[in-house]
Amino acid sequence: MVMKQVTEQFFNRCKSELGVSLNHVQEKAVRQTDGPLLLLASPGSGKTTTIIMRIGYLIEVKRVKPSRIKAVTFSRASANDMKERFKRFFPHMEPVDFSTIHSLAFEVMREHFWKKGIAYQIIEGELEAEEEETEGVEGTAARDQLPLHKKIILRNLFRSIVSENITDDQMEELLTYISYVKNKMIPPDKWSLVKVDVPEASRILQEYESFKRTGHSKLLVDFDDMLTIANDVMERDHGLLRKYQQRFDYVLTDESQDTSVVQHAIIEKLVQRHRNLCVVADDDQSIYSWRGAEPSYLLNFKQVYPNAVTLFMEQNYRSSSNIVDVSNQFIKRNKNRYDKNMFTKNPSSRPIKIRSLSDYIYQAKYLVKEIQKVENLSEVAVLYRNNSASIALMNEFDRAGIPFYMKDADNRFFSHWVVEDILNFMRMTYTDRRVDILERIHLKFNGYISKQQMAALRHIQNGESVFDNLLQFVPLQNYQVKLIADSKDTFQQMNGMPPLPAIRVIRGRLGYEKALEKMCERLGFRKEYLLGILNTLEEIAVGLETMEDFANRLNYLETLLKKAKHRKGQNVVTFSTFHSAKGLEFERVYMIDLVNGIIPSSDDLKADSEELLEESVRLFYVGMTRAKKHLEMVVYNNRDGKETSESQFVTDVRNILNPPEDDESMAAVGKGSTTNGAVRKPAFSNVRSERDSRTGSGVKLERAAKLPPNPNAIRSKMELTSGKAVLHRSFGEGTIVKIEADRVFVRFDKGEKALSIDACLEMGLLEPI
Ligand code: ATP
Ligand code: MG
Repeated sequence: MVMKQVTEQFFNRCKSELGVSLNHVQEKAVRQTDGPLLLLASPGSGKTTTIIMRIGYLIEVKRVKPSRIKAVTFSRASANDMKERFKRFFPHMEPVDFSTIHSLAFEVMREHFWKKGIAYQIIEGELEAEEEETEGVEGTAARDQLPLHKKIILRNLFRSIVSENITDDQMEELLTYISYVKNKMIPPDKWSLVKVDVPEASRILQEYESFKRTGHSKLLVDFDDMLTIANDVMERDHGLLRKYQQRFDYVLTDESQDTSVVQHAIIEKLVQRHRNLCVVADDDQSIYSWRGAEPSYLLNFKQVYPNAVTLFMEQNYRSSSNIVDVSNQFIKRNKNRYDKNMFTKNPSSRPIKIRSLSDYIYQAKYLVKEIQKVENLSEVAVLYRNNSASIALMNEFDRAGIPFYMKDADNRFFSHWVVEDILNFMRMTYTDRRVDILERIHLKFNGYISKQQMAALRHIQNGESVFDNLLQFVPLQNYQVKLIADSKDTFQQMNGMPPLPAIRVIRGRLGYEKALEKMCERLGFRKEYLLGILNTLEEIAVGLETMEDFANRLNYLETLLKKAKHRKGQNVVTFSTFHSAKGLEFERVYMIDLVNGIIPSSDDLKADSEELLEESVRLFYVGMTRAKKHLEMVVYNNRDGKETSESQFVTDVRNILNPPEDDESMAAVGKGSTTNGAVRKPAFSNVRSERDSRTGSGVKLERAAKLPPNPNAIRSKMELTSGKAVLHRSFGEGTIVKIEADRVFVRFDKGEKALSIDACLEMGLLEPI
């Protein structure tokens, strides 16, 4: 009885004080505290909210000590998000242990090494990009110990095994491969079977493993090892396992679709005794399978925990009906998924906007112009797939005086060798007497000065122009003479030039871009990436007067970038990758760079990459479902002088907003065939939505006149009422479900369609039955 009262009080208090009135399933998930529970639910359906409430319930109603509850999630960002939400909801409660699985694993590992007296050293982290996973991990590789950094070890192993230098792409791929193998717990004899685009990858991994054990006085450990070691220790050291098992009575995991095999194994061991495990997940938001996440585990949950309760939640509380309906249809293009039907009772807001710009260079400016109008900047997020997008954004937003928070900054940009090269070229325009500057760029412009020639040049210390010295004292090939003399002149003419034309001269007349292309062919660098850096540098240079200003601006932006990481929670715009935006929500979301080649990426689009493509769809879906009311997709037709095409995902969204028709029907229309459901309307709806989105206004339906008139067609909006049975020219019979703004929603046999009311009336597409 008392218990019942306390429970009621708890839920009432949640309603009155926190304004959260849990729905039936949410409440069930909160009350179902004991035993295994799987909560599979759509985005914005309140998964994280439910976890937080469940913790509050455990503490307040079940009188569980906060220190006996463990909540884990995938990334540090989500762990912090949960921590903040908990504090907001239950400010007076003692804090609960919210953390990543990595930091739990680290604790276990550390204790084990301490017990056994094993000296170890962490060889990952500290290089800021990896910060996400370093939470609570002490003693990560310090900069001064860099030779023992994972990447450096791998680079050396690659060089000795493959006899080449590893490219950036290969390094990324190798790191992903290693994480994948470890997270999936793939045994060493199967390593060579895992698909990877790096020569000798499995051998490099073998050598890497043995180097970590024997190559140094201490045991070397990377982040993936923390997981595998923790899992092994929990398997073998029963005393230690028991200690951890006894420490927590309740374990909850959010974002479990991104949990890997080894992480699941750790959690399984942790809860073995009491099995009080609450797992919350959405398979449609699984976006880390490339790193070994295993969402299929969720499908087998019942096998691991036969008495598990499984609950589903499909009602979205976050977004307007426009966003929910379109996202729900969009994700259905994936085949490998639990079929769910996300819906909402939220009202409709503005339709999803698709903005086509003629060129990439207008993107950041366009965003500035739009976001300048918004009062509360913390309501806005700009989301992109690739981190490299962030530098141009940052530059433009800073110029406009709009503050921002950047979730995962691209630290590599400012220290990239292409940036260094450009600065060295610029230094050369101030003085051409410094051999040390030429040393850095001698292979990268017209004339191509060889190593031997550089060595000869170094011996001449007369303080004269390096070019004059080359021409006078160093044996040159015939063709080099004119090129070097020309380069000398060019450098001199560039003296005092503003940075933008200077970069263009470096790229063009001095032949830097040609040299880069050759390097790409020889060393396997990604050309688009390098040219992208040059283009970004040009964007930064716009409007600056001197090369010195340019160098200062780069320094300034680098500092700004570091600061932007710490602006969370202030009234600032959020810039984030799609990946890092998972779990978060914003009033207004701008998804940018939506072109084929970026999302989906060229790899996703390869013929045998169905799984990659599906993951890319999920990533796009995660982006869409971050928005509460305003969702805008930004596309451009040109980038860096090359034509780009709208992301096929945006085309999907267009087609959902405005269903297209097929060629056959075009032919039928051309021949003037008539009605009875066989003829489809011509493919102008795409054109229409495109123009709509560009001009922001409706466009006359020029082609309507070509259709044969249907005398029975509905011509007045008044006649469109929900529940009414209608015959559509192309989709056949259906029932009107609802009318919203300029759309009529009709349920046909094949599913529900949102049709443009204007189009239906003007073209006489619907007739009453
Ligand atoms: P994601 O899949 O993106 O992580 P989620 O399922 O974790 O989403 P939440 O972030 O918990 O969803 O909730 C989304 C939004 O819906 C939040 O603003 C939350 O406050 C609100 N919400 C959740 N449940 C309810 C409810 N029962 N009544 C009103 N609002 C709710
Ligand atoms: Mg969530």
